[in-house]
Amino acid sequence: MRQYLLSIVLLIFLCSSCEIEPDNTDTTWDNFIYPEINFVNNAAHTEGWTIYNRIVPNPQDLIKESILGVVKTLYWSTSDSIPSIRKINYSFDDREGISAKGGGVPEISIFYSSRWVEFSAENGGDDRVLYETEGVLYHELVHGFQLEPQGIGSYGTNKVFFAFIEGMADAVRAHNGYFPDENRMAGGHWMDGYQTTGFFLEWLTTKDKVFLKKFNRSTLEVIPWSFDGAIKHVLGEDHSIDTLWDEYQLEVF
Ligand SMILES: [Zn+2]
Repeated sequence: MRQYLLSIVLLIFLCSSCEIEPDNTDTTWDNFIYPEINFVNNAAHTEGWTIYNRIVPNPQDLIKESILGVVKTLYWSTSDSIPSIRKINYSFDDREGISAKGGGVPEISIFYSSRWVEFSAENGGDDRVLYETEGVLYHELVHGFQLEPQGIGSYGTNKVFFAFIEGMADAVRAHNGYFPDENRMAGGHWMDGYQTTGFFLEWLTTKDKVFLKKFNRSTLEVIPWSFDGAIKHVLGEDHSIDTLWDEYQLEVF
């Protein structure tokens, strides 16, 4: 009887300890302040809207989930210097192009094209539309939440600035699995921006698994900012952008 009671006590203890013991969920982001999402549908008459609406019944939820994915890729915690975007005007428009972001802290605007949704649906159905919608959303949201190089001009005046901005947007998209593997190809230059720079920067997470966070933060620490300066700052003085690019080219080829 005593043994029986003991096992009951032990069982209760074990069960309660199961409940008390926290799981491995990272709670660092619990106090992240999401921006207000103002979703505007300007393409109700299109086939693209019918498809989008079927696949994304709650755009606000999809945008918030994607924001969290982006800030978790670029920052360690909410105590970091995250640009304080307080409102996102997200419009679904019947127009040329895919998607683009405008504005800056505290309010940005992003449009997404109903024609691109129709094109994606024709090329791969609903799964393709969701994959593409999330990937494009990740890219544009990076532009809202990424840090920017200092001391070297601007997006429109300096190619290094441009390559960092567009390269990081596609690096975060690639890191979260929103590009097909076959898109990663050899060739080009690390200053090309978009996927050429993006896949390279993503590959550098094999050198340091938090490379993308450190590379983003390097804009606060390396002034004037440069690719080689940031590489040396993050990975050490014995590294250079040129030798790492050559190593990457051999691996991708
Ligand atoms: Zn972009």
